[in-house]
Amino acid sequence: MAASPQTPSTNQHTMDILGCRWLSEGTFELELTRPPLFDFVPGQRIRLLHRGLERDYSLVSTPAEATLSLCIRRVEPGQLSPLLAAAEIGSRLQFSGPHGYFTFRPSPRPAVFVATGTGIAPFVSMARCGVRSLVLLHGVRVAGDLYYASVLRTATQRYVPCLSAGPPASASPFSIFHGHVTEYLEEHLEPGVYDFYLCGRTEMIRDVTLLVDRRFPGSYVYTEAFF
Ligand SMILES: Cc1cc2nc3c(=O)[nH]c(=O)nc-3n(C[C@H](O)[C@H](O)[C@H](O)COP(=O)(O)OP(=O)(O)OC[C@H]3O[C@@H](n4cnc5c(N)ncnc54)[C@H](O)[C@@H]3O)c2cc1C
Repeated sequence: MAASPQTPSTNQHTMDILGCRWLSEGTFELELTRPPLFDFVPGQRIRLLHRGLERDYSLVSTPAEATLSLCIRRVEPGQLSPLLAAAEIGSRLQFSGPHGYFTFRPSPRPAVFVATGTGIAPFVSMARCGVRSLVLLHGVRVAGDLYYASVLRTATQRYVPCLSAGPPASASPFSIFHGHVTEYLEEHLEPGVYDFYLCGRTEMIRDVTLLVDRRFPGSYVYTEAFF
């Protein structure tokens, strides 16, 4: 049975690194052992505790999988993420969790998922569990950062990568919007009442929330800010 999002935050666990796979030039996926009795709901996160540092990471794996996976951007200069990128297979990590309430809430309103960068992580876990949104926007700088595109494309009626920089992507299997996620919503999302799920940069969350107030009144907004 899946854990409720209200699970106490004091749950402490240990896990080992099983593998590290680079998804793009600056972002990697860590595969980790899953402690016995650790359960979570898609969209939830864990808090890594390492060398006195505490950092949150959303799970990209599903509750049905035998291992845990995280999608992590190596922030330069960052304290923990470069250590994780260089960590040896077999290294042991402590964490607490699951934490958070950024979970899918079925409703009569169509769901619009909006992510920037690694903010796509909770949506990957939801998609792998069969959650289907009307629209899913993934804002990144360049096409090389469109990790998980194949999973996401099948989980939404409209998967729209939004590139804010770089040259037009050539030979892409899906249509790409050149601009920010806010511009796409402003120009292409039909008027209506939606459930917006926003995850990633604080600036994006602020800008989309203001836009929703103006253009999509009556909509609900759920948010998870990474930084
Ligand atoms: C609820 C929550 C969930 C999160 N989930 C994820 C996740 O799934 N994947 C992930 O990569 N990060 C995630 N983060 C961010 C993560 O917790 C760390 O902040 C990040 O890994 C940087 O840690 P650091 O110690 O390397 O850098 P630090 O030394 O702590 O910070 C360096 C600077 O990097 C900036 N920064 C932080 N995160 C990012 C980022 N992703 N991209 C660009 N700049 C950043 C911050 O503004 C900070 O000033 C999440 C944060 C929160 C609050």
